[in-house]
Amino acid sequence: MLLAEKQSLDRQHVWHPYASMASPPPVSMAVAAQGTKIRLADGTELIDAVSSWWCAAHGHNPPAIVAAIQAQAERMCHVMFAGFTHEPAIELAEALVKQLPAGLNKIFFADSGSIAVECAAKMAVQYQVARGQTKRCHLAALKGGYHGDTLGAMALSDPNGMHTLFKGILPQHFFAEQPKIRFGARWDDADFESMRLLLEQQGEKIAAVIVEPVFQGGNAMWFYHPEYLKKLRKACDAQGILLIFDEIATGFGRTGKRFALEHAGVLPDILTVGKILTGGCVSLAATITTKHVADTVCSGEAGAFMHGPTYMANPIACAAGGASMRLMESYDWQGAVLRIERELKEQLEPYRSLPAVKDVRVLGAIGVLELHKLPSPEQVHALVHATGVWLRPFDRFVYTMPPFITSSEEISRITMAMGHLAGG
Ligand code: PMP
Repeated sequence: MLLAEKQSLDRQHVWHPYASMASPPPVSMAVAAQGTKIRLADGTELIDAVSSWWCAAHGHNPPAIVAAIQAQAERMCHVMFAGFTHEPAIELAEALVKQLPAGLNKIFFADSGSIAVECAAKMAVQYQVARGQTKRCHLAALKGGYHGDTLGAMALSDPNGMHTLFKGILPQHFFAEQPKIRFGARWDDADFESMRLLLEQQGEKIAAVIVEPVFQGGNAMWFYHPEYLKKLRKACDAQGILLIFDEIATGFGRTGKRFALEHAGVLPDILTVGKILTGGCVSLAATITTKHVADTVCSGEAGAFMHGPTYMANPIACAAGGASMRLMESYDWQGAVLRIERELKEQLEPYRSLPAVKDVRVLGAIGVLELHKLPSPEQVHALVHATGVWLRPFDRFVYTMPPFITSSEEISRITMAMGHLAGG
């Protein structure tokens, strides 16, 4: 079949994310991905400056992860996880427990980030019900937050963000103002006032607070002060409210620390991880908690955590996860992220003077240009192909989250392309 025929079938039948099916936006035909590059059917190679939605941190198709997937597929693609266990799940759990702060050691595998968030919310509610706190059936979250696209996860994301359309169907939660004090700026207690008041006034109805620690990604591309998390921990403890950190975007090095919680030195009761967990190869996420929370959840009437998806802990995904964890230990990812951070700061900061640029911010391997207004999708598409750099701006943000293995020369190409998109 000719390339044009395949593309025509795609336009007729295949619905792409956040896209119109009636008049589909332009998409490129990807045929291979290796290291920092995605190869297209016409032979063009694009530098993947967004690590394919922030996942392929060690580059695309790392040979060690591909080999683990192949070996596992030959032995056993899948087996149900109720009544069975398997080595890939056990090995991945062991690797996670080793690198997580002590105490976070009970792991529930989930299919995707959004599902891990739903599991965290269910766990928190089951915990409160088991303690007789049956009124605590709401959560609190932050404006500007993003926790996923399923109904439960949308309900916890910014109420004025991309999910506003679904307001009518979503369960109602409580939202505090977005933290305004930047990472690295001087802390002021006033920044916590909205959350403090919320918990004081509604605390008895709240099972847990969920936040993305330090970096609000999908809705705000914003880095806030870690002191906020210390205050939040104290306020939650004072009221018997659980604290959930959603590290699906930040986990495994993206902000320069293995987990963003390390910037604050604060432990949550429940942690969600995903994305880099399998090195960007297969969908897998996890909801991780403490012995205390797990014991309490299981002491309730149900005697168990009531969740169990068909493909839970899929052996191929877990094998990819185990290989990805080993790969992370095999090179100086932290040195690489710090180098990328330095380069992004040096190269993006000068764009602050461009008329289209409202703000420039960098933390770890994340660089953001906040614009007054984004160029059109057609302009973006044309620029991507002219520069050979794959960027996917959204809302007001032109950003990069490159693989940690991106070279200095490639970072220069990425920041140059970002500058072009900002009208520079
Ligand atoms: N939480 C956060 C913080 C995320 O960044 C994302 C994905 N961007 C999700 C949850 C949802 O993950 P998934 O797309 O795998 O469902």
